Amino acid sequence: MASMAFPLVRSPTKSTTIFFHHKEQTQNVNGLKFVRGKKLLKDLCTWGIGGPCNYFVQVFHQTHLLSAIRYRHEFSVPYIVIGKGSNCLFDDLGFDGCVILNQIDLLERIEPGVYRVGSSFRFNHLGILSCNEGFAGLEFAAGIPGTVGGAAYMNAGANGQETADSVESIDIVTIDGKF
Ligand SMILES: Cc1cc2nc3c(=O)[nH]c(=O)nc-3n(C[C@H](O)[C@H](O)[C@H](O)COP(=O)(O)OP(=O)(O)OC[C@H]3O[C@@H](n4cnc5c(N)ncnc54)[C@H](O)[C@@H]3O)c2cc1C
Repeated sequence: MASMAFPLVRSPTKSTTIFFHHKEQTQNVNGLKFVRGKKLLKDLCTWGIGGPCNYFVQVFHQTHLLSAIRYRHEFSVPYIVIGKGSNCLFDDLGFDGCVILNQIDLLERIEPGVYRVGSSFRFNHLGILSCNEGFAGLEFAAGIPGTVGGAAYMNAGANGQETADSVESIDIVTIDGKF
């Protein structure tokens, strides 16, 4: 049995406050680079469909994620956290909010068959890796093209197996940016 622990974020919907000057294309905040109005959602999902998002930021560490969420929360900007976008269908009109692209990619072996995995780690890689190391429970993951975070959020499953059966614990970032 493989076990996982990884940070997750819920996606709230709130009204938007536009606080960028319209001519600004990027803004650096606490080491985070927010891109304004240029990133197309079609480039972030498997379907290849979707217009621009108002704000776009990539997070590579938990601290980035906390900062991004706190910052968006402070300005009442709606946001969504995405992984590989393999279960997202976006609107051609785009998203009047902030897309946070999860890039928190880590893997630690806690003990044999127990892994601590970053939420952007590829779920299919985790399935193959744990199988190759001799552990059962995530064989189905090998065919799922998303992230570990996406799989946990969706409780991805196939062939009679599901993600929840192999999860021991999950670290969660709340909608107001608390770990
Ligand atoms: C070819 C193909 C085959 C597939 N086969 C299967 C299958 O067999 N079984 C199955 O269950 N699914 C399958 N899927 C669907 C999809 O791959 C899974 O649902 C996958 O778990 C989504 O992961 P993702 O990283 O792409 O999530 P995304 O599409 O990026 O996001 C999906 C949802 O999860 C949320 N989310 C993502 N990451 C996080 C996070 N870190 N914290 C909080 N919320 C988050 C997003 O906000 C969004 O609401 C398939 C998809 C494709 C394209």
